[in-house]
Order: sequence, then C-alpha cells, then structure tokens
Amino acid sequence: MKFIITVDTEADDQWSGNGRISVANIRHLSRFQSLCEEYGFRPSYLAAWEVLEDRESRETLRKWQKKGTAEIGAHLHPWTTPPFTEEEQKDPRVRSLPCELDDEVLDQKLTHLTERLTEEFHQPPEGFRAGRWGLDGRLVSHLVRLGYLADCSVTPKLSWKETMGRRAGTGGPDFRLAPVRPYTPSHEDVCRPGAGGLLEVPATILYTGLLVREESAAARWFSVLPEGPMKRMLDRLVFRRRWLRIEPWSRRRDWADIYRAAERNDLDVLEFMIHSSELMPGGSPLSKAPQSVEWIYGLITDLFRDYRARGVEGIPLGEYARSHSTLHGR
Ligand SMILES: [Zn+2]
Repeated sequence: MKFIITVDTEADDQWSGNGRISVANIRHLSRFQSLCEEYGFRPSYLAAWEVLEDRESRETLRKWQKKGTAEIGAHLHPWTTPPFTEEEQKDPRVRSLPCELDDEVLDQKLTHLTERLTEEFHQPPEGFRAGRWGLDGRLVSHLVRLGYLADCSVTPKLSWKETMGRRAGTGGPDFRLAPVRPYTPSHEDVCRPGAGGLLEVPATILYTGLLVREESAAARWFSVLPEGPMKRMLDRLVFRRRWLRIEPWSRRRDWADIYRAAERNDLDVLEFMIHSSELMPGGSPLSKAPQSVEWIYGLITDLFRDYRARGVEGIPLGEYARSHSTLHGR
C-alpha cells in the first residue's frame, strides 16, 4: 500500500474570514517534517502564494526539497494570488473558490502561481490542490496545459455546494459520487473518468463499515442521501464514513479501520491531508490551544507508527503520479 501525505501549506487560520494574512505557522512546520523523516515519509507540501511571499518560509521549504525529504506542489488560494479581481480588491474577506472564477482570471492566477513555484524551486510543480476544494473541468484543462501530473482536490462522498466564496457565487463542487481510487478525470465532469492528461488522487474518504463495499448500489445511495438525522444514524450503525485527516472526532482506531477498508476495496494508495496551520497553537479552529496541537501530534504519530508497522510505502504525490503513468502507459 502506498501512502501520500499532503499538506496545504498556507496562511494562518483561513477559517476566520477576517481577510488577514500571516504565515507564522510555517515556523512551526519543522516538527512535522522531522516526524515524517523519522518514519521515512516524504510529505508533499502544496504551497499557496502567500507562503511564497515570505522569505523564511520559502527557504524552509527549499531546504527540505533540496535534501530530498519533501516535495513541493501548488495550492491555489485565489484570494492571495495575483492578479486580483475588482471584487477581491474591494473586499479582502472574499475568498473565491477557483471554480467560481472567470476562466481568464483562473488561467492567470494559476499560471502566475505555477511560474512562481517553478522559479523558486527550480522545477515545475507536479502536484496540485484547489483552495476550498474548488476543482472543476476548466481547472483540469489548465493543469494539464501547465504540465501538472496530479491533482488531489476531489473529496469523494462530500459536496461543497453550501460553501460560498464570491458574493454571487455558485458554491463548491459536488463530489459525492466521485471514485475513491485514482483516475484520470474528464474535463467536462471531474467526478468521472475521461480523456485524462492528469491523475486525480482523491482524498481518502471511505466507508469503513464491514458490510459496505465502495461503488456498490448501497454506497452510492447513501452517498447522495441528504444530510440529516437519518443519514447520521445510518452512518454510525452501518456505513461509518472516515476521512484520513484529523477531525475533532478522530480516534486512533480510525487509522486501522481506514486501512482495512482500503484493503477490502483493493485500493493501492492512501492519502492523508492536513493544513499547515493546524500544526500551530491558535492556527486553526482545530488547534486553538497548545494541548490541541499535542493531541493532533499524538494522532499523527499513531498514524505513522501504525502504517509503518503495516509496511506502507510513503511516496510524494508527484512521484506517485509518475509511477502510475509508467504503469498505465500515459
Ligand atoms: Zn487552502
């Protein structure tokens, strides 16, 4: 089993919505990097523009990249990446989703971010994640054109329709029926396999209930069932949806449950995600106090230890996509 660690490497507390941008959390990242190194895992840091604006942050990431112990990819936060739209200039609290942008603006921001990363890290980024999970088919086309190999913005079983960015925005994508295993997304509908040119490595979100098979009629039915008490009850009793990330209700046994569900469903890769800001006290709603950061590190250490013991093979996102394309003759 392959194991990919993705880190949205971005400004402090992007949940507050106050429009302020600081990157103090990057100073705290070395503890995480050391932990990855201790277990022989090479994380993929998906860097947002605001982090590239800070010299010390750039140097930190460059150091790990040079050492060969980390990979640097891209994370598009439209609200910090130039050029800025009139709406963004008027109100810094507007946090557009990439899928809500006009195509020209989307193209410009993404190109800008890609060129900057190429310049700073002396090689083009290969892995990508959209800010606020806002992926759409146009973005896939742009990623292919700019030479990206992998995207990891798809969150199977989840819809971001209620996530609003622009004032007159359309909300985020609906990934509820997206595949759980890597695929080459269609440029028309990113939830379906299609023409390709890019490997989608979805976030690992699985039904860990023993009786549930991914892609079965029951799983599909449950995935589109509206949120509510009925869904919550069925989830607790039967489906047991788990995301390979730290959530307020995460427990150590989730890691084993996810691993076993991946095996039952013949998956060959697990993808963990975290925001860099979640690793700093006060950096996110999840890590308000120093004790919560210790709790997060406790869970991550358990995860690394348990997966290492199971013999997982750590691999960065871009490298995984390259090995995948060799296998599949892309
Ligand atoms: Zn982000």
